[in-house]
Amino acid sequence: MEKKSNIAKEIFVSEEEKTLNWKDIQLAFEKTFGKEVYNSWLSNISLLKEYNDYILLGVPTRFFRDWIVSRYLDKMLELLKSFKLSINRIEFKISEESKSITSAENKDNDLNRVTEIKDSILNYNRLNPNLNFSNFIKGSSNEIALTSSQKICEQLSRYNPLYIYGGVGLGKTHLLNAIGLELQSENNVMFISAERFMYHFIKSIKKNDMVNFKDFFRKSSVFIIDDIQFIRGKEGLQEEFFHTFNSLIEKSSQIIISADRAPMKLDRVQERIKSRLSGGLVVDIDSPDQELKIKIIKKRIEDIQNQFKENSNISDEVIEFLANECKTNIRELIGVLNRVITFSRIHKKTLSIQDCKNILKDVFNQPKIITVDKIQNTVSNFFNIPLSEMLSQRRSRPLARPRQIAMYLAKKMTTRSLPEIGRRFANRDHTTVIHAVKTITRLSEKDDEMKKNVSHLKSLLLEE
Ligand code: ADP
Ligand code: MG
Repeated sequence: MEKKSNIAKEIFVSEEEKTLNWKDIQLAFEKTFGKEVYNSWLSNISLLKEYNDYILLGVPTRFFRDWIVSRYLDKMLELLKSFKLSINRIEFKISEESKSITSAENKDNDLNRVTEIKDSILNYNRLNPNLNFSNFIKGSSNEIALTSSQKICEQLSRYNPLYIYGGVGLGKTHLLNAIGLELQSENNVMFISAERFMYHFIKSIKKNDMVNFKDFFRKSSVFIIDDIQFIRGKEGLQEEFFHTFNSLIEKSSQIIISADRAPMKLDRVQERIKSRLSGGLVVDIDSPDQELKIKIIKKRIEDIQNQFKENSNISDEVIEFLANECKTNIRELIGVLNRVITFSRIHKKTLSIQDCKNILKDVFNQPKIITVDKIQNTVSNFFNIPLSEMLSQRRSRPLARPRQIAMYLAKKMTTRSLPEIGRRFANRDHTTVIHAVKTITRLSEKDDEMKKNVSHLKSLLLEE
């Protein structure tokens, strides 16, 4: 009986929907995802088995699978459906320790490969000599972060790791860089952003060169990693980071980490990593107050005066005005100041506040055009989920909440109607949008986290 129905099924399949031709599908992948993604990732997938309602694909490693699932799965499924409608899921089998690299390639001189990884990493391991302690200005918002950083340099492993967090443009990278500069003469300092770390990680996987990768990072005695929030949602990378972290701590290497949020707020990061990250000293950098902003501006003016040997035409009144206008971001403050100074030097003119307003009107008064697209992109970036997943029909909370927030923002920040917004979210009904707006309104009243996220997103959208 059982057998019969299977046969019947098979006949049914072969009549109604031909079996899949993997070559055709790969061509379609290449066309849809582009040559680069295809060559790096999708071309390495093989079709292992085809069932009526799903297919089993072979991938070289777990990391590979995670990467593909987190980025391309929805679109792949969509595409597969166009070949065979009955397919409703994709499963993966990991053929661990990929044999895809031939022994001939393996014979590739090992030494060469070491230098290759070294060179490419060293290119990003350069410290910027201009971001040092002596030009980092102390204020109440960054004092603890600054003194902790300096203490680390005096006595390594006193706090391990040192974790510094805070919003964009508040001086995290500056401090990390300053620590690196201070320590580099007597230590093997590694300074890398989490994004770069991943880049080398992937490259090593693809080249089957993990041994060198591990050695390279694990032999540093001071390991500084910037913007660790980048590992959110990336399982394979977290795994590797966790092992790197442990082996560094084991041999008492100093680890310094920056992030845009506190360790425990790193959603979609393994608990064991969060607890490691909070295991040393955690300090934050806050938005600068008026006093610090003014100090930073004055120092900058002084530097430029020394550099060009000329007097500045920037009055105290103007300084105060600039500090007042740039609410939180020191990077923006410096950018604005540079424009004002350049203008005044070119025109040899002492500037009034009105002049500044004119010079900076595109920064301060620009009418902000916020589109649904932009909101969707900003929200999916913020939560670190692929846009296609945020718009997909999947209902798991990590996707549904960001989706609702994006709908909410689309309603609040654009002039689009509810049905229009619904259409832009993969043809959803306007009642779904209403529900999202209500939910997010309610949650941001009672949930601090939600309130913070929504207001952060609003300011991201209004920035730029
Ligand atoms: P983050 O990494 O937190 O986004 P950065 O370290 O890149 O921020 O800082 C942004 C800019 O502001 C840099 O040019 C940095 O030198 C400058 N900056 C930040 N804080 C200070 C400070 N306290 N004193 C002097 N410059 C600062
Ligand atoms: Mg930074």
